[in-house]
Amino acid sequence: MNGWQCPDWCAADHQCTVRQGSPAGVHRSDPIRWTTAYGSLVAVRNRDLSGRDWLEVHAHARLGERSDVPTQEQASRPAVEVDLAIRRSVLPKVKTRPAIPRGGRG
Ligand SMILES: [Zn+2]
Repeated sequence: MNGWQCPDWCAADHQCTVRQGSPAGVHRSDPIRWTTAYGSLVAVRNRDLSGRDWLEVHAHARLGERSDVPTQEQASRPAVEVDLAIRRSVLPKVKTRPAIPRGGRG
């Protein structure tokens, strides 16, 4: 399959800029939407003409519903946790060494 042909998951409508003939075009899926306890998530799959795939995820989270956590912390914590979750999902596992070898030092 060449990159100009829409894959089966592509929306193949105005969302797909490959169909408009742009060499910088991107195949895009229909958005997948989830309503969550905190707001919503929207995910879109993408592929450029070189075959590179990526996922866009947009999150909408209400802030200020917890009085025990400052609003600024409520705003920054999800970004850190989303980053960690994506790293676990898409990056190869990195073998780590314990800071202190088994059996202790020396
Ligand atoms: Zn397409």
